[in-house]
Amino acid sequence: MAAVRLDGKQIALDLRAEIAGRVAERVAEGKHRPGLAAILVGDDPASRVYVRNKQKACEDTGLRSWLFPLAETVAQRELLELIRELNANPEVHGILVQLPLPPHLDEKAILDAIDPTIDVDCFHPENVGLLAAGHPRFYPCTPHGCLQLLRRSGIETAGKEVAVVGRSNIVGKPLALMLMQKRTAMNAMGGDATVTVAHTRTADLAAICRRADIVIAAAGKPGLITPEMIRPGAVVLDVGIHSVDGKLIGDVAPGVEAVASHLTPVPGGIGPMTIAMLLENTLRAAEMLDG
Ligand code: NAD
Repeated sequence: MAAVRLDGKQIALDLRAEIAGRVAERVAEGKHRPGLAAILVGDDPASRVYVRNKQKACEDTGLRSWLFPLAETVAQRELLELIRELNANPEVHGILVQLPLPPHLDEKAILDAIDPTIDVDCFHPENVGLLAAGHPRFYPCTPHGCLQLLRRSGIETAGKEVAVVGRSNIVGKPLALMLMQKRTAMNAMGGDATVTVAHTRTADLAAICRRADIVIAAAGKPGLITPEMIRPGAVVLDVGIHSVDGKLIGDVAPGVEAVASHLTPVPGGIGPMTIAMLLENTLRAAEMLDG
């Protein structure tokens, strides 16, 4: 039987409708409309599309959004000055620096310059530390999108074996942290799962995936996860996005839908969930800052 398609696009729309309701309530109470400032350096076409999608999502949900396009050659000092100005602007509740940055810029110094109370991507060391300690200020957007998608699809993670393929700071590492943590009132997205993290030096990726009840592919390698690696009936989330011959594909190879019980499509799976969680974080920052 073919796997149930986990419709991230629809669940993200539901989340966005809830966020829009909370935004409208705040505005009716006379509070600041939550606002997200996006900084885009250079003119990489994929980055332009990502930023445009995020801005459009803000507008559709009633959030303010600003785009700061900067030349590929922008000086580090100039970019840091812009971040300082945005940090000080009470109308800005989230700053997003679209990655990757050109090699002459110091990515760490730039991300660390964002005020952690409006670091809606959750990259600042203070926010990473709070997340690791189990007292998150923000949940990082893609891991949060994965866990919300599972929860809203009625798929429990507690007590399950989960294989996370990838250990990046953006996806794999924080996702593994969230999945393994105890679910508490302070940490509602704690997964209570038993987690194995696979990476480029993992000896037997297939064996690790085959043991798992839930496999989350975030390796950035098209078609890496093949049907033989999946235990019949396992749940598979595909975080990967690759443009191949003008078509978007993920890290999961064709044929997995015949073995898995549930599978996310690419596009229309984790991508829209990630954007919904960015809106959630911007609203959350506004709620924490302005009440
Ligand atoms: P990354 O390149 O920073 O990290 C990839 C990780 O996968 C590394 O930790 C590496 O050790 C591991 N890996 C690579 N090859 C492997 C292999 N053969 N076996 C086991 N592990 C392997 O990438 P990232 O930023 O984490 O992104 C991963 C993918 O997810 C990319 O395709 C990216 O475009 C996509 N992505 C999607 C969203 C979304 O919203 N859907 C968000 C972020 C990233």
